[in-house]
Amino acid sequence: MEDTIAAIATPSGSGAIGILRISGKGAREVAAAVLRSDAGEPPDLRPEHSHRARRAKLVDPRSDEVLDEVLFIAMWAPRSYTGEDVVEIQGHGGSVLSRAAIGAALAAGARTANPGEFTQRAFLNGRIDLCQAEAVADLIGATSESGLKAAARQLGGQLSARLLALRERILDARAIVEAYLDFPEEDLPDGVEAETLGLLAETRAEIDALAASFARGRLVREGVSVVLAGRPNVGKSSLLNALLGRDRALVSATAGTTRDYLEEPISLGGVGALVCDTAGIRTEAGDVEKAGIARSATKIEEADVVLAILDGSEALTAEDAQLADRLGRRPVVAVRSKADLARAWTDEEMPAGLENPVAVSATAGTGIEELTKRIIQELPDFRDGEDRPLVTNARHHEGLERASGFMGSAQALLAEGGALELVAADLLASCSALEELVGASDHEAILDRIFERFCVGK
Ligand code: GDP
Repeated sequence: MEDTIAAIATPSGSGAIGILRISGKGAREVAAAVLRSDAGEPPDLRPEHSHRARRAKLVDPRSDEVLDEVLFIAMWAPRSYTGEDVVEIQGHGGSVLSRAAIGAALAAGARTANPGEFTQRAFLNGRIDLCQAEAVADLIGATSESGLKAAARQLGGQLSARLLALRERILDARAIVEAYLDFPEEDLPDGVEAETLGLLAETRAEIDALAASFARGRLVREGVSVVLAGRPNVGKSSLLNALLGRDRALVSATAGTTRDYLEEPISLGGVGALVCDTAGIRTEAGDVEKAGIARSATKIEEADVVLAILDGSEALTAEDAQLADRLGRRPVVAVRSKADLARAWTDEEMPAGLENPVAVSATAGTGIEELTKRIIQELPDFRDGEDRPLVTNARHHEGLERASGFMGSAQALLAEGGALELVAADLLASCSALEELVGASDHEAILDRIFERFCVGK
């Protein structure tokens, strides 16, 4: 925290603009060393010009050589992202130029920032809590509109406020219990006990409800996994392309292409999804193909929804009939493909477990909307509770479960007439579990784990 840190905050490679970010006690000195006015004078770093863009030349302090024409914005403490003195220098975005710019800052006394270090300082300086810091990473990494919204709400402090309100209620219950600790008989009067048990039950139910929102929250953050299954040539790849063509995800495809399957991120009505085209499921296959099929089976087991694709233009086969069994108990949407061709079978002939198919033509692009709707129907409700805090992070889910566990133990002890010290201790442990989530207690290990997910410059 004593060091002044610097990093290029824009993505690496060449771009229209590259931003050099400097934060710390020495940000003013570093800026003074690397910036010159047009007339070659020291830059304007007056406190009253905080948050205003000024023109300058970026120079290498070792040679005074001009590197770039830039705009800079000084944001003096505490009114900055990190809460420290910050100077952001916007130059042209070339990779060699960016290296030269960071080199100039280092020569002037800054050191290179670690991943997430700016955000970590914002947390350590009390600008944001831990939930909000995590939301920053989620906001940048969001792959769908719903994921983006959830991250924005978390950054706005909705989840933190909820966690702190729950913590307050546990502290209230603990205060009641502690008030009776000094009494010789060490038992709560009946009325007080009933009231405290009521308070604990109500608070625990809310903690559990928040923890349960992770079922949806996980899907919102990570995306839903949709797997296309069916024998070769039923039209899986064509359907994947039709789904991609309709509604591309915010991010460009980062295809995890292997011989066995192809995975593409898409947006299904605002819900992020990873659609996976598996190797054809066949009963008789060579060794290489078998390995691919085994991996497909794993993909299917992990899927949130499986699309069971049956070729509508060909007679149903024994393999089609076995498809339902292979899908186990995953949520399934049956698809009758190639709906533009004459149909070779009726819905009544469909294999058991694959009823009510959606008719889709990848070539004509029909039925895709209906299919999207049916996929979303198979998922935990996405619309419900749009404005309520949603737990999207495994760390938060785990902390809530721990808090709930201690609450349960406190409830049981109290109901059995156990020692009030132990009840109070459980309530304290439950509070700590919630406090760790917002970062009221700062464990180094937790912080390291969180901030290593960030990119340098954030
Ligand atoms: P996969 O092996 O299951 O991935 O199947 P493909 O997507 O490669 O399709 C197999 C064949 O069916 C190809 O010749 C496609 O052109 C054809 N096909 C796929 N979808 C449709 C469709 O909706 N209508 C028609 N008429 N042909 C299709």
